Amino acid sequence: ESAEISLKDIDNLARSSFPLCMRHLYEKLKEDHHLKHGGRMQLGLFLKGVGLKLDDALAFWRAEFSQKVGAERFEKEYAYNIRHNYGREGKRVDYTPFSCQKVISSTPGVGDHHGCPFRHFSEENLRAALGRMGVGNRGMDDIIDKVQNRHYQVACTLTFEAVHGSTCDAGINHPNQYFIDSQKILQ
Ligand code: SF4
Repeated sequence: ESAEISLKDIDNLARSSFPLCMRHLYEKLKEDHHLKHGGRMQLGLFLKGVGLKLDDALAFWRAEFSQKVGAERFEKEYAYNIRHNYGREGKRVDYTPFSCQKVISSTPGVGDHHGCPFRHFSEENLRAALGRMGVGNRGMDDIIDKVQNRHYQVACTLTFEAVHGSTCDAGINHPNQYFIDSQKILQ
């Protein structure tokens, strides 16, 4: 469980084993070279849980943010918060990654990309995102049905099963659990 991942692995892992909430944040970060605070927290703590060490985390965020705000502003305004997430600043609390319940109950505003896509995306955007993950038409309708009944984690579990061609008996209740279960199947 305390496996380590390195910087160069993230891109492949995002495609194969990130749940949709984290995949979306990752893609937006790559596209915009920026994420607002809620997104940095949700993705940053997830990556920490996945096994990204602090130095690699700093390099990861620096590579994107410096393209947008410059390396100097990154160091001044953003690096502190990353070290903080790893318990190296402030009260030195070792923050834990967010559970599904916490992500689902968050309230992303305009320009935010955090939250749970099953709850916070429009149906049109959700269908498009699921299609990009490789979910076929039949699976898609089952997933949308669960979403309409507000069973977001069940919808995520069905997505996991569709993407991996494998059952997920425990059900998804944590983004990091999604990642670990995915890696178990793929490795
Ligand atoms: Fe992420 Fe959990 Fe939502 Fe799945 S159900 S997308 S793991 S928050």
